[in-house]
Amino acid sequence: MSGAADLVLADATLPDGARGHVAIAGERIVGLGAGPPPPARRRLDLGGRLVIPALTDGHVHLDKTLLGLPWMPHASGDSTRGRIDGEKRVRASLAEPVDQRAEALLALAQRQGTLALRTHVDIDDVCGVRNLERILGLRERWASAVTIQVVAFPQSGILKCPPARELLAEALALGADLVGGLDPLGIDGDLDGHLDVVFGLATRFGRGVDIHLHDAGEAGLGEILAIADRTRAAGLGGRVTVSHAFALGSVPADAAARAAERLAAAGVSILTSAPGAAAMPPIRVLRGAGVTVFAGSDNIRDAWSPFGNASMLERCMLVGYRSGFRTDPDLTSLLDLATSASASVLGLADHGLRPGAHADLLALDAGSVPQAIVERPSPAVVIRRGRIVREETASNAAPLSPSPPGGPR
Ligand SMILES: [Zn+2]
Repeated sequence: MSGAADLVLADATLPDGARGHVAIAGERIVGLGAGPPPPARRRLDLGGRLVIPALTDGHVHLDKTLLGLPWMPHASGDSTRGRIDGEKRVRASLAEPVDQRAEALLALAQRQGTLALRTHVDIDDVCGVRNLERILGLRERWASAVTIQVVAFPQSGILKCPPARELLAEALALGADLVGGLDPLGIDGDLDGHLDVVFGLATRFGRGVDIHLHDAGEAGLGEILAIADRTRAAGLGGRVTVSHAFALGSVPADAAARAAERLAAAGVSILTSAPGAAAMPPIRVLRGAGVTVFAGSDNIRDAWSPFGNASMLERCMLVGYRSGFRTDPDLTSLLDLATSASASVLGLADHGLRPGAHADLLALDAGSVPQAIVERPSPAVVIRRGRIVREETASNAAPLSPSPPGGPR
């Protein structure tokens, strides 16, 4: 390393358990390891706190959240269709555009150490691309704080919601990063018709794909395999995600294992939010086959779910809890769901705790990665591109509920 660093994190515990330091110059990590820390303009003594890369939320709905509003009792039905209709009623009752609620969620995510996320934004016959335009504006305004990737999401279906096809094209032309989809059979009742539109738009606009797939059992598995085949045919390997993929957890183990091989070969990644009441994809089987598995919050305090606090450490814990993970190696592997795996899916090439990477880092009150996963503390220090954006001292330890934009009222 040449010259003094701008910032050095001294007396840190690194993810491999070693005690050492991290040196930062400008926006990047320039050194890390054991031994005395190099000279720096600022030295932050961590007293053994754990340093990890910033977290990535691979699936969240910024436009749906009701954060920042008074508590609203959950009123949607149990079926997917019931919830779609219920959400439209809730949305119609809201006077303000999405910005304030979405920013409350972004602020909360940032405090929880999430500095990159993929958000699915509704496109439908009622809201058109209105919410998407607002979220694209937030993507711009928040770029220095949180990296935001936007999926144009046909929440009411495509074939069952005729304007959706043209609205998806409009959303991609406006700058959405990926084209979404939703249960081709369960919502639209036409697997090929739905996938023709989704993959047609992905090819036409040169974008990736991220499809919500709740359909379970053999039907859902057939849809997942069709998506794998389409991905190969379109040359979109590495750019296609199936979100939720409940079917992989609801078919016999050997069928899931065969599907995992097909997904790995096609370059299709799987996103899970560890949902409370649905079959979960088998993490071990998928990873063993070479499938990239990553995690996301999904719904946070909205018409779909009253739960969620934007903590990706908590999301990793939930995936491990539901998967029966208990050993330290298994618990440690969970962090990958919200760091390296999710960063690779989002195309964040400079993510990680290594020289040359962006200095997007967290310091946690934990002595090891397994402890951090189990206890899921809010980060004591959040660093974005070399700049300290949160530094907790005894007097400013923030509560978990977000303040409205502009500060507490
Ligand atoms: Zn979702």
